[in-house]
Amino acid sequence: MPASTATKVSTSTDDVVPADLNIPDNYVAHTLKTQKALPPIKWEEWYKEINWLSTIILTVTPVLGLIGAFLTSLRWETFLFSIFYYFVTGLGITAGYHRLWAHRSYNASLPLQYILAACGAGAVEGSIKWWCRGHRAHHRYTDTDLDPYSAQKGFFHAHIGWMLLKPRRKPGVADVSDLTKSPVIRWQHRHYLPLILIMGFLIPTVLPWLLWNDARGGFVYAGVIRLCFVHHSTFCVNSLAHWLGETPFDDKHTPRDHIITAFATIGEGYHNFHHQFPMDYRNAIKWYQYDPTKWFIWVCQQMGLASHLKIFPDNEVKKGQLTMQLKKLRETQDKLVWPSDNSDLPVISWESYREQSLKRPLIVIAGFIHDVSDFIDEHPGGAHLLVKNIGKDATTAFFGGVYDHSNAAHNLLSMKRVGVLHGGSQHGVDEKAIPPGQRLRIARYNELSTSPYNSGTGYSDSEGLLG
Ligand SMILES: [Zn+2]
Ligand SMILES: [Zn+2]
Repeated sequence: MPASTATKVSTSTDDVVPADLNIPDNYVAHTLKTQKALPPIKWEEWYKEINWLSTIILTVTPVLGLIGAFLTSLRWETFLFSIFYYFVTGLGITAGYHRLWAHRSYNASLPLQYILAACGAGAVEGSIKWWCRGHRAHHRYTDTDLDPYSAQKGFFHAHIGWMLLKPRRKPGVADVSDLTKSPVIRWQHRHYLPLILIMGFLIPTVLPWLLWNDARGGFVYAGVIRLCFVHHSTFCVNSLAHWLGETPFDDKHTPRDHIITAFATIGEGYHNFHHQFPMDYRNAIKWYQYDPTKWFIWVCQQMGLASHLKIFPDNEVKKGQLTMQLKKLRETQDKLVWPSDNSDLPVISWESYREQSLKRPLIVIAGFIHDVSDFIDEHPGGAHLLVKNIGKDATTAFFGGVYDHSNAAHNLLSMKRVGVLHGGSQHGVDEKAIPPGQRLRIARYNELSTSPYNSGTGYSDSEGLLG
């Protein structure tokens, strides 16, 4: 659609036009075709390919931490405080950057917003606006070249590589105009550098110094090493969460659910659910699954700091789960051998059946002719009962007249079908013609006889559906 004919959306408070307002309908294909990617990385000129700012932050931090740890003894108070501060700054990212701002999965009061923005700055992962812009593109273009940390490019790229090297492409367009209007996000953006220094290093140094006189330990363990852990913990959401685990809700893309990822990421490990229902404030939907970010948001709600926690309708969540379960069952169903279909079997007259049964052991049950030659000696009730019925209709005898056979026996019997008796089955045995193993089956929509997509049946005028 040309921009001139596009409906102009005016924002009442601010004239920020959504970035994706005027993109073409075939945006992804169009962009991948028309926007040239940078040439592959040339290792001879590696220094030109490095994103120096991120690389320095992400390499100096662990080196400094390692040296510091060798030279500084760890006090237990500092150890516990470092874990606590890991959660404080980590939640700034998971509950703040991710679930509040990138996905708007709940509303936070102004004080909570400031707290989360400050704590998130202590995780040193860029400003809220930059982070959310990338994350929204990740959700929108998952696994494509427009996904800034596409898992298709390998674990290392998704984890950290995308920040160390210059990206080959710009991330796909994603609107963050709602964030641009937020005074908290603007405040964080304006004061980002001092916030990093205060939240990332000053507070974790000063608090242990004032409380138990361990400024140096505070800086090394709660500052530097804690930062390193927060970094890799949240990076795991892009790497490990797209690599390890199950896909209980959808298997179209790489996101997966796994408890190990949940432990590594303050509860962001149920990533398959998250990509399906990104506006849900939860990642883990079961009470016993580890999701401290969800618990934190819930506690904030109880304290009156958060409201409008979004939950996707359970009915729709279950549909996704059911689809995946049926898919697995269908695979099992497809691996089994099923009896020949009516249409594959020859139709034989009663006379012909009688005649042929003189040459081989054939028995009619429920309108089907069965060849029992490999079963006579195996028959649990004795060979004589089969021999007695050769050339006859044993329907009544099979279904209770002599012995009411088990479902397994009926399933096995149906595997011995060699023909259909002309004239169909006797009255009242229609249901008996379908073995128990086939009475409940998994069929795709186009395999169902009642499907409107299946030619020959479905909607017709006589049913009044076309008026
Ligand atoms: Zn993801
Ligand atoms: Zn997300």
